[in-house]
Amino acid sequence: MSFLQKIKDSLRKFMVGRRGADELSLALLIVGLVLSMLSSITRVGLFYLIGLVAYGFSIFRMFSRNVEKRYAENMKFKSLWQNGRSGVRQFINRVKNMRKYKYFKCPECHARLRLPRKVGEVTITCGKCHHAFKQKA
Ligand SMILES: [Zn+2]
Repeated sequence: MSFLQKIKDSLRKFMVGRRGADELSLALLIVGLVLSMLSSITRVGLFYLIGLVAYGFSIFRMFSRNVEKRYAENMKFKSLWQNGRSGVRQFINRVKNMRKYKYFKCPECHARLRLPRKVGEVTITCGKCHHAFKQKA
């Protein structure tokens, strides 16, 4: 066996039972990278420290043998990330259409609703909980 093959082989043995990088680990690496760049630009040591913690946690997660726990963490991260992204997208949409629609929430279930501007006061029924209420727009 050549030297390179030995390295490959021992690496493969080392990685048995470990999952390697998932989305959360990659995100932590990026956060660590951004923070260490920030610290070198701003000379704020705290950024560097937090960046190191992010790196450390990322590496710990990649080599962790507790696959189930890491998987659950990753799933939680992904759902938070998705919610954040769709929240930002919805917010941008609301700002874009602010002149055309009045946005408000259902007083019962807090579902977000909208009415075209200048319709006056109308009785509307929430599509989610079927609660009827009056709303001006
Ligand atoms: Zn409702």
